[in-house]
Amino acid sequence: MQILVILTGGTITMVRNPENGALRPADTETFRAFVPELFASDIHVDMLTFSPLIDSSDVSPDDWSRMARTVYENYNRYDGFVILHGTDTMSYSASAVSFMLQNLTKPVVFTGSQLPVGVLRSDAKENLLTAVEIAAAKDTDGQCLVPEVCLCFEGKVFRANRTTKKNAEHFEAFESYNYPALAKAGVHINYRRHLIHYPAPDTQLQLLDKTDRHVALLKIFPGITEEVVHAILTTPGLKGVVLETYGSGNAPSSEWLYLQLKEAVGRGIIVVNKTQCSTGSVEMGRYEVSINLLKAGVLSGYDITTEALLTKMMWLLGQYPADMHTVKDMLQHSVAGEMTEAGV
Ligand code: ASP
Repeated sequence: MQILVILTGGTITMVRNPENGALRPADTETFRAFVPELFASDIHVDMLTFSPLIDSSDVSPDDWSRMARTVYENYNRYDGFVILHGTDTMSYSASAVSFMLQNLTKPVVFTGSQLPVGVLRSDAKENLLTAVEIAAAKDTDGQCLVPEVCLCFEGKVFRANRTTKKNAEHFEAFESYNYPALAKAGVHINYRRHLIHYPAPDTQLQLLDKTDRHVALLKIFPGITEEVVHAILTTPGLKGVVLETYGSGNAPSSEWLYLQLKEAVGRGIIVVNKTQCSTGSVEMGRYEVSINLLKAGVLSGYDITTEALLTKMMWLLGQYPADMHTVKDMLQHSVAGEMTEAGV
């Protein structure tokens, strides 16, 4: 079994500088020395290090494309891939990569850690070794057990585009609120195959890595002013807006909000409603306070995460720059298992 581990940066790739005690990114050799177990099993591991290694706060859509492209270019040489990434924006990157790599038949497992690999109590080793095992896991027919872009952290494997970083302190840093874990690692790894997406046989991997950054996140809060909403909706070049609403997709019933959204939709801007709640789905029309949003032409994001919706919007706008009809249509449907559509 051959696995490629791609180091992009983040805490997991850091070690303490013995001279001043400060944390700094490790080079590949130093990193390898901290995880000798990785090279002592029957799984063959190669490492590829991005240069420079970056904190995930600095990761941009170009880096998502580089991650997806690295997997694509090495696809035939490996059985699975592990991407080491900072935890802060891991859910964004992993969601984006899940859209960019279509027809995946091999695992692409994102992981990271809360403590640097070079710290005694670090969770880095366990997360990395579990991720490699998930990436290498096959059934007796040679079928990969988790042929999805997934995120492995603290013994749980999630569909990546369902995850959110929930905790800056605990080792259990990620959650998938609206979709159960695909696998859980205890003494044994329990794969929940009925929850995992398996591709049709003979599908061909496709790399679709263009994105368009002309999107915005508009979070509704009590007291939000007309000026703020206007400033966001008239941002030059804007094409798509994620509207974060209350509860099941509700917003203030003010006439000005309705008129501004209606006018923006009329100018061709795509607005998608996403609830501020972690769990549950948008259901416009359930309360009177969301009827205006429906009338203004706002689309439903159902139970998608903000990370997945923003990256999906950027990705769709990059793929279909001249076809807003298709962008809107695909925003209403699951492309990589990122949401549960109405009635499904
Ligand atoms: N700031 C770091 C990063 O996201 C945090 C981490 O890796 O846990 O790159």
